[in-house]
Amino acid sequence: MAVDITTDLNKVRNIGIMAHIDAGKTTTTERILFYTGITYKIGEVHEGAATMDWMEQEQERGITITSAATTCWWKDHQINIIDTPGHVDFTAEVERSLRVLDGAVAVFDGVAGVEPQTMTVWRQANKYSVPRMCFVNKLDRTGADFFRCVDMMVDRLNSTPLVLQLPIGAEADFLGVVDLVGMRALTWRGETKMGEDYDVEEIPAAMADQAAEWRERFLETLAEADDEVMEKYLEGEEFTVEELEAAIRRATLADKLNPVLCGTAFKNKGVQPLLDAVVKYLPSPLDIDGIQGHDVKDEEKVIVRQPSDDEPFSGLAYKIAADPHLGKLTYVRVYSGKLEAGSTVVNSVNGRKERIGKVYQMHANKREEIASVGAGQIVAVMGLKDTKTGHTLCDPSNQVILESMTFPAPVIEVA
Ligand code: GDP
Repeated sequence: MAVDITTDLNKVRNIGIMAHIDAGKTTTTERILFYTGITYKIGEVHEGAATMDWMEQEQERGITITSAATTCWWKDHQINIIDTPGHVDFTAEVERSLRVLDGAVAVFDGVAGVEPQTMTVWRQANKYSVPRMCFVNKLDRTGADFFRCVDMMVDRLNSTPLVLQLPIGAEADFLGVVDLVGMRALTWRGETKMGEDYDVEEIPAAMADQAAEWRERFLETLAEADDEVMEKYLEGEEFTVEELEAAIRRATLADKLNPVLCGTAFKNKGVQPLLDAVVKYLPSPLDIDGIQGHDVKDEEKVIVRQPSDDEPFSGLAYKIAADPHLGKLTYVRVYSGKLEAGSTVVNSVNGRKERIGKVYQMHANKREEIASVGAGQIVAVMGLKDTKTGHTLCDPSNQVILESMTFPAPVIEVA
């Protein structure tokens, strides 16, 4: 049965995961889907049965992201993971996916650090001021060096890393992280557990000095980016965890810095804190400025659409995919208004009317048919005939063209 998706937009995260090939994007995504699968839910109803199927499937063959947008749930937040192609040949496609996501997680190989494709995608994300977090992965590998990777973020990406965690132990003995916001240790000594998978401990005595030094650096970097923190910092006042988290969020949304976390996706260490951070620090569709488009007949005439269900419908088709069961699917980001199954919309780029067939929200292990979906959401639509990637779909009586992307010349990497 088709359902209406009415979600509090504040609790939606449209994110991409970007990385150089082999850094662990797939593994990290699979771990995210694994953990969020455990608490999978439809609307407001927790689905106990789905959890069981999920666990069985996971054990049988692992979970692979197969969709251009996969929806999952984490602590009452809906996370839509938008697939961002990592390969440089797909530069145009990367650009397009960067437009439909609101925030991103960049995954780094703890040994290789910042690699050429990271630089390419990072630069493209700069163009759209996409708020980003960093996850330094593979800390279990021989030669992994978290601090070198952080230095490379400064040197090669010209970014401002805000280090939120320090690794405890290294390589085969990588055990956990010091959480510099809560000044505590999160450790993974045993098996993967289904709920919170880490233990909270005191910071190891041997790391007390290092933790104090990095806490200071953390506060300084945050103060540089945020006036409220600066004021308190100069007064020498203490901060609550909530104040710090709010400030990290403000500074990340303003694209002034990039929170950095670490772990090893492969060994399930660090992925849950990463999910928590996605919810805490990356933007909701409401944090993003209204989308700018232009009049169908006059390119100079700017039209701005706000992420509200009360606005006329507008959406961008950002990917066409062939689904083995459903056939041609058009992935659409709804920017304003409501998209309803069975309704007629206009493709404002070619002037053709399109009838919206079935609408789906795609999950890693199932798809869900939806009657209507509001602004800020990403769905797959069946039945579109004349719509290509990059086309705008809109309300026939309130037309707009959303996309005015310029593609950069091929980027030549300088290591
Ligand atoms: P992608 O190309 O970025 O999607 O990378 P994958 O997720 O496919 O990972 C590339 C390889 O690195 C695979 O063989 C993974 O099993 C491995 N890998 C991923 N994460 C980790 C990690 O945390 N530690 C180690 N040692 N290997 C990892």
